[in-house]
Amino acid sequence: MPTLLNMTAPLRDNFDIPYHDLGPQDRPPRLAIVAGVHGDELNGVFVLARLADFLAQLQISGKPDQTLRERVLIIPAVNVLGLNTRNRFWPFDKININRMFPGQTDGETTQRIAAAVLNVTRQAYYRVDVHTSNQDTEEMPQVRLYDPNDDERATACLFGLPAVIERGVNTRLTNTLGHVWRQCGGENFIIQCGLAGALQPHHCETLFRGLVAFLDRTGMVTGLTLAEDEDDLHYFGLNQSFAIISEQAGIFVSRLNVGRWVQAGEWIGDIYDGFSGRMRAQITAPAAGLLSSLRRQPLLCEGDLIARLLTVGESGDRMDQIIHGQGQ
Ligand SMILES: [Zn+2]
Repeated sequence: MPTLLNMTAPLRDNFDIPYHDLGPQDRPPRLAIVAGVHGDELNGVFVLARLADFLAQLQISGKPDQTLRERVLIIPAVNVLGLNTRNRFWPFDKININRMFPGQTDGETTQRIAAAVLNVTRQAYYRVDVHTSNQDTEEMPQVRLYDPNDDERATACLFGLPAVIERGVNTRLTNTLGHVWRQCGGENFIIQCGLAGALQPHHCETLFRGLVAFLDRTGMVTGLTLAEDEDDLHYFGLNQSFAIISEQAGIFVSRLNVGRWVQAGEWIGDIYDGFSGRMRAQITAPAAGLLSSLRRQPLLCEGDLIARLLTVGESGDRMDQIIHGQGQ
């Protein structure tokens, strides 16, 4: 098992960030896929570990038509210590690793982690960073593109995830892995999937199928028989989303699932007074759209994100530009 970085700790054994290096070793990696930059984002960690096992089994299956034709790097858990201690950030100093790129090889621990991740992944042509939103908001499985080129727009659809969402590049957050990858060429993708702090097996299944479909459609694996996609794929460009922002505090309750279409005026959820138990407001959809994000943290303050709808037509919602970086 190759190691991204070996680290020492004040009062315990050394520890590593291991990764998988699969497929033909005599050529540069075609794909690098990363998860667990945030230590509470379990869906991506689980799916990438399962994917590594799937590809390793494919290599030893002995079936001549089923092959892994290209070299694939998989880093299931960048924030390995955060995962083991149930921390979103790096446990020693509470640093968000996704604010440390491009990092520094002779810097502090999180700077060295960032530099090591970038150094290994920059060799690949396709790069994918899997995130799981945060512990407040659940995201349907989706590909996010930031100021993409036409190759990235076309390739994003090969994952077969139910939504591809295009945004302008975030000019404030320039030290994320996804942002720094852009300077390395190739094609770069962010995937969002589910709710942090827990595992959602149905989202994991969608993501796993999407990654295998991607490997198949790009010719990295051959000989698999894949089921047809059940869901339609929808591409959402700039100004095709609407963020529902809370106008008051309370306890927010919703029984909807992300990934469903709602009509204008359809019920999204209710806000209750946490002491009297009376309903303060009923939240309804301001426009028809795909419910891509939904608040799962019930404690609600004024100005919090309740839900995000992806709309077929332009919605001209500037607020969404501001909070779209959430969870990354
Ligand atoms: Zn994240």
